[in-house]
Amino acid sequence: MSSRAEAQGGSNEAELDNPSREDFEDRTLRAVEQSMVVVQVAPGMCHVYSQDGTQYTVDIYLEACGCDDMFYREPEGGCKHVRRAKLKHGEMDLEPLIRCPNIDISHPMFEHLAVPEYR
Ligand SMILES: [Zn+2]
Repeated sequence: MSSRAEAQGGSNEAELDNPSREDFEDRTLRAVEQSMVVVQVAPGMCHVYSQDGTQYTVDIYLEACGCDDMFYREPEGGCKHVRRAKLKHGEMDLEPLIRCPNIDISHPMFEHLAVPEYR
């Protein structure tokens, strides 16, 4: 049994496994924390409904969306609607977000992703 070696390896991993809000882009935080509804309409295609009920058509694989953010700024990684759709469909890693204690990830949308396992 090499308990000392195991403890050292564990401490390195603990640092990597300790993300904070600053590790994520604002658009990613908004994608997770804002109330949105994602409805898949075709493979890779979703309708994303924002908090005010506006519907945006999102192509997950092209990272395309009809919102002003994509039209005017074309952010790398997509707007919050693209990110939300990618998170829901497993095209973006939700796990580091779940591990961050200061992010509200309690939306019903994420229920199927076994959030309590990480918290
Ligand atoms: Zn958008």
